[in-house]
Amino acid sequence: MGLLTNRVERSEIKAGDHIYTYRAVFAYSHHGIFVGGGKVVHFTRVETSSTSNNELYIPTTECATCPDCGFRQPNSQVVLSCLDCFLKHGALYSFEYGVSPSVFIAKVRGGTCTTATSDPPQTVVHRAMYLLQNGFGNYDAFQNNCEDFALYCKTGLLTVDRFGVGRSGQASSVIGAPLAALLSSPLKLLMPSPVGVATMTAGMYCMSRYATDIGVRTDVIKVAVEDLAVNLGWGNNREIVEENVISNGRLLR
Ligand SMILES: [Zn+2]
Repeated sequence: MGLLTNRVERSEIKAGDHIYTYRAVFAYSHHGIFVGGGKVVHFTRVETSSTSNNELYIPTTECATCPDCGFRQPNSQVVLSCLDCFLKHGALYSFEYGVSPSVFIAKVRGGTCTTATSDPPQTVVHRAMYLLQNGFGNYDAFQNNCEDFALYCKTGLLTVDRFGVGRSGQASSVIGAPLAALLSSPLKLLMPSPVGVATMTAGMYCMSRYATDIGVRTDVIKVAVEDLAVNLGWGNNREIVEENVISNGRLLR
């Protein structure tokens, strides 16, 4: 894996790996946990009348390779599918864990690596399979997305941000965009050269991305998958939830 791409071959991935592929010609990426046996567990936006774009998942009923492809519990957006259906002919990439801050900042595209370290593969697979059976909450309510799902399976880390700012690189890239736009217009007059503007904008973008990386943030907690439903506050009071987390001794830092 190089600095600019995390592209891997199918033979290189193993159970517990966080993989992703690009959809719609690099417009966005879709993430999942490879659980072995050619299967991927991933968090999707299940088709409803109100959804229209990203990560729309239409269960494949005609999958020739695996009869349980597209399996999900009723009302759950966590889906099991084969690698072919996950990739949809897209290229396979591996999400990197435990990268150094300098490598993280050098990465051009958000949402391809994190400074957080991965838990052992069997723990990762356990979380993914548990969430396949129990769900991962509502896609919209806590701004969960497929990358958040995979990050959680790999690290067990959840943010306790009351405003539900997403943990993932894709989400923070969106947050960074208005800042970059702001810097590129009126301040241009004060900058010595166009090159300076570009450097500064890129630098600010990278630093904002770094600050929201799950491996760097200080407002993350480690949560056992069995406690996840409680901690995501699905219909419950979040204040109580946070007290539970701390009293359980699972406060990470
Ligand atoms: Zn399939």
